[in-house]
Amino acid sequence: MRIDVLTLFPEMIEAGVRVSLLGKAIQEGILEVAATNIRDFSADRHRTVDDAPYGGGAGMVMKCEPIYAAVESLRDRNSLERIILLSPSGRRLDQRLVRELASARDMVLLCARYEGVDERVRGDLCTDEISIGDYVLSGGEVAALAVIEAVGRMLPGVVGAWESVATDSFYDGLLGFPQYTRPPDFRGMGVPEVLVSGHHAAIERWRRKQALRFTIERRPDLLVNSTDADKALLVEIEREEAERKREMEQ
Ligand code: SAH
Repeated sequence: MRIDVLTLFPEMIEAGVRVSLLGKAIQEGILEVAATNIRDFSADRHRTVDDAPYGGGAGMVMKCEPIYAAVESLRDRNSLERIILLSPSGRRLDQRLVRELASARDMVLLCARYEGVDERVRGDLCTDEISIGDYVLSGGEVAALAVIEAVGRMLPGVVGAWESVATDSFYDGLLGFPQYTRPPDFRGMGVPEVLVSGHHAAIERWRRKQALRFTIERRPDLLVNSTDADKALLVEIEREEAERKREMEQ
């Protein structure tokens, strides 16, 4: 997959994709990330990329010309089928959208700054708009990196053990289960016995149940279509919960 990022701060993107799994995916040629500086496409002497808003008001707006020119410069390398603006008013990024993006051949991520981009960029040039949550960042770069990391994990060969992607939070609509590693006793805090039992079926069942328990406690909205096995575990969880409440009341 190829991802072109248009930004005023290419060094932020370059630093973010250089390390860890993304760095490795890039080295192995599974993923290509190129950051292009929008300022390089400004036509004037001062390399201006922003201007005051028509109608007045605070802040500056990113101009059309440099952004259109930067996108057009990618034509030979990128299909330009998906030109995605990072924006707080976009579709909220979630694992479903991440999976959708992971099947694309390439995409352009456009990071804005200041008050955002001219509406003729947003409405006429961009094909998608993505938000990483209901809060306002000062620029789209951190949001673009969030998209790249999440999409990168989904590309075959990026995460060594596919199983670890398949058990990630949200992958199958549940939050992740709790994990432990050595030592078995840390400052008096132990490890659930089942995990050291070597009994794989029991471990699987315990993990699934913990994932369901976490999800029901924290994000019940995620629990939509449970399997019969999950339903049985959910009944168990409910029963244990009721028992715990009864004990507390006594
Ligand atoms: N005045 C704008 C906010 C501009 S913030 C508004 O109210 O919508 C500057 C830029 O940061 C945005 O144009 C966008 O590219 C990026 N940005 C800010 N918050 C974001 C979020 N939650 N998700 C994705 N991008 C965001």
